[in-house]
Amino acid sequence: IKGVQVPIGLFIDGEFRAGNGSPLQTISPETEKPLTSDAIHSASKSDVDLAVSAARRAFNTTWGQNVSGPDRSQLMRKLADLIDRDTPLLAQVEALDGGKTVTWCEGDIADAAACLRYYAGWADKIHGQTLENHTPTKMSMTLHEPIGVVGQIVPFNYPIMMAGWAIAPALAVGCTVVFKPAEATPLTTLMLAQLVKEAGFPDGVFNVINGTGKETGAAIAEHHDIDKVSFTGSTATGKGITIAAAKSNMKKVTLELGGKSPSLVFDSADIDEAVKWSAFGVFENAGQSCSAGTRLLVHENIYNEFVTKLAQAADEIKLGAVLDRSTQQGPQIHKAQFEKVLQYIDIGKSEGARLVTGGERYGDSGYYIRPTVFADVHNKSYVAPACRTPHDKRLLTYLQAQEEIFGPVVVVIPFKTEEEAVAMANDTSYGLAAAIYSKHADQVGRLMHKLKAGTVWVNQYTMLSHNTPFGGYKQSGWGRQLGSYGLDAYMNVKGVSWNYG
Ligand code: ADP
Repeated sequence: IKGVQVPIGLFIDGEFRAGNGSPLQTISPETEKPLTSDAIHSASKSDVDLAVSAARRAFNTTWGQNVSGPDRSQLMRKLADLIDRDTPLLAQVEALDGGKTVTWCEGDIADAAACLRYYAGWADKIHGQTLENHTPTKMSMTLHEPIGVVGQIVPFNYPIMMAGWAIAPALAVGCTVVFKPAEATPLTTLMLAQLVKEAGFPDGVFNVINGTGKETGAAIAEHHDIDKVSFTGSTATGKGITIAAAKSNMKKVTLELGGKSPSLVFDSADIDEAVKWSAFGVFENAGQSCSAGTRLLVHENIYNEFVTKLAQAADEIKLGAVLDRSTQQGPQIHKAQFEKVLQYIDIGKSEGARLVTGGERYGDSGYYIRPTVFADVHNKSYVAPACRTPHDKRLLTYLQAQEEIFGPVVVVIPFKTEEEAVAMANDTSYGLAAAIYSKHADQVGRLMHKLKAGTVWVNQYTMLSHNTPFGGYKQSGWGRQLGSYGLDAYMNVKGVSWNYG
């Protein structure tokens, strides 16, 4: 954006400074050209050390010990107000950096501000318990203490929103943060750092260190003075981080990982509504969402009508320039992701799935892929759930590294009975989200218990509230974000047993 100065340094101890890691070049997924004239600084191991000591100092001297809950709350609200003030600019930069439509970015940024306000409301309400033991001279109680310095590593798909979700509960309870954005989307978190400074947070409370996963991310995961790491990203990377955390200092770990989320569409459902939500659930953000509803299990009585209407909905999605307010879908994040999605589409075709619409790139430049619907897919195929027995050697390593497609590709699978649908829905190594479309309350009641997923949406998709926990069963994660559950991730609970007799 002409005339806009986006910081490009690391943000450590309240100031921007140069980094010693290998510089990052942000590429616009729309134009395939560099977005900034200068490279973005990246953090080497020694820069990570600096950020961690700044966070430790802030934890010990200000934020973690001497700033009261109401004061933390007030600063967090101030930050939320500044985010609101700067939303138009933040949204434009986020759109260009991440290839997301500017209208979506505005929503994401509003969500980050709202999440800060939600947790600002908790900051002065952290409390333990007193526990009766029916002895006049003894008592027990719990103390809830901030865990300390936390490392937070997030992916490219919702840069500021993920930052908001991650830092809000940590800051609310008194933790200090060393934050690593994804290497593909470094810009808006640096702008957020400017706002943190302007809001008046003590130095060192929030530090931003850009860099690659291999260099900067790994240095966080294996750091001996980080008390906890929270990670959002792929299952494969999450496993590596957990191993590094265990091998170093057994820092606590919470993980929000991948998914291959099923939706069960019954013949009692309002088909138009189910189609609308299903299309939204998978094509939103060009399919680059961990909870994307990528497997649609549809009752045979409504199967043909559903597939036809879904294809129409897919065809109506307007792809285009991310700053154009009428655009509904932008490009995939980068070349590797673009090629990977196209490769999955090829596999789907070669496996004999029926390509109903899409299945190719859109336009001649930019990493755009048309919304793609495969029908008559077998639940054991590549493009369906996490595939455990790949028969294509070319993709073996690929699939082991990252099993979800993370693109605008959805598969539709017919079913006859509720039992069959539940069995297919749960037949995956993931368990992030699931959806039920049905008008029968008894059926919804049964199924919400049976589905092995951290979130179950009923007659809607991707509706998240800050008071409702979000996280994964099985290989989709450890722990929960959001709600009061999200606070637990950043606190140690101490049991005190006191004999004062
Ligand atoms: P995605 O496909 O969403 O980029 P990744 O899991 O690869 O998923 O990346 C998510 C985040 O994890 C990014 O910030 C990335 O830099 C970081 N990351 C990647 N590899 C590692 C690693 N080995 N250790 C720590 N962080 C990593």
